[in-house]
Amino acid sequence: MQTGVYLHIPFCRARCSYCDFNTYVGLEALFEPYVNALLREIKLAGGGSARAHTLFFGGGTPSLLSPDQISRLIRACREHFHLPADAEVTVECNPDTINQDYLCALRQAGVNRLSFGAQSANPDELQLLGRDHGWAAVEAAVAHARASGFDNLNLDLIFGLPNQSLAAWQRTLRAALDLAPDHISLYALTIEAGTPMHDWTRRGTLPLPDPDLAADMYEWAEQTLADAGYEHYEISNWCRPGRACAHNLIYWRNEPYHGLGAGAHGSTIYRRRWNVKRPADYIARLNDGRSPEAGSEDLDEATVRSETIMLGLRLLIEGVDQARFAERFGAPVEHFYADALERGIKLGLLEVSPARIRLTARGRFVSNQAMQLFL
Ligand code: SF4
Repeated sequence: MQTGVYLHIPFCRARCSYCDFNTYVGLEALFEPYVNALLREIKLAGGGSARAHTLFFGGGTPSLLSPDQISRLIRACREHFHLPADAEVTVECNPDTINQDYLCALRQAGVNRLSFGAQSANPDELQLLGRDHGWAAVEAAVAHARASGFDNLNLDLIFGLPNQSLAAWQRTLRAALDLAPDHISLYALTIEAGTPMHDWTRRGTLPLPDPDLAADMYEWAEQTLADAGYEHYEISNWCRPGRACAHNLIYWRNEPYHGLGAGAHGSTIYRRRWNVKRPADYIARLNDGRSPEAGSEDLDEATVRSETIMLGLRLLIEGVDQARFAERFGAPVEHFYADALERGIKLGLLEVSPARIRLTARGRFVSNQAMQLFL
């Protein structure tokens, strides 16, 4: 079993119109105190003996931190967790916040994977999303990354926007493919309560996305990415062979992870925990020698088993590994879920072999229905 370390950097330069993440603008004065608090939490969580296999800086916009701040955080993780020398170390970047010197410095600090929030190649869509960069910045960011020696790059794209045509989406995905990323994540827009976009749709100044058109966009993307040689290894994620995100695989295999930083969630599998959300509270707690934990929840064995199946079904190639499941829970999947498997097969949603359980092509389109069989 592997363990990941997630570091949350809750700062952004501007707030995107669809975003409900735990992130804040205008808190530049807290960057350094926050990094110092995070260094303390890394020490507390790692204790010098914990093992970890991946490190992921997410946000927010981690690339707002200086290379020195990121380097200190990586060094602390290496000091307080047993992290293999070749561990995947990812930093999420806003394309507009970086240049080549910055990326060279990250590479030297031990970062070996970058994830760029690219979202769209269409200026009107970037404006609607409230993104503060253009597509030229994405092209420049990828060129800088390659020139700095990064051979593992992800691009995040969003589809299913209000008023978005299939042709506009095709333009975005083609523009992304022209940049030859090693990994692509495609997210269907969800309009979250409390965001400006939610407000606009509620008032009727913006139409809701069309779910049927979004399904067509996804289907077209699946075919186009397969033709371009990408493996569709997770419902929303595609990669070049060998370039699956090792950190996210830990989540999908329902393995443990440390979530450090303001509002971050962690899991020891049978216990979930989360930190206080506001950066100032997080910093104050660690400065006072108190735990930043805001709450936790214990999970029973049956819940962990069903979550392991539901998460595993997201992995379209690997699926739920039958041998790994039996070793972990003391009996094969069919011992616990014979009825669910039978119904899933009958409905054409599941494909079951002695090695793995996976969604069928039909199951991919109604994955929630397939997963609910195991609730
Ligand atoms: S850059 Fe990312 S985290 Fe920051 S506001 Fe935009 S979507 Fe949210």
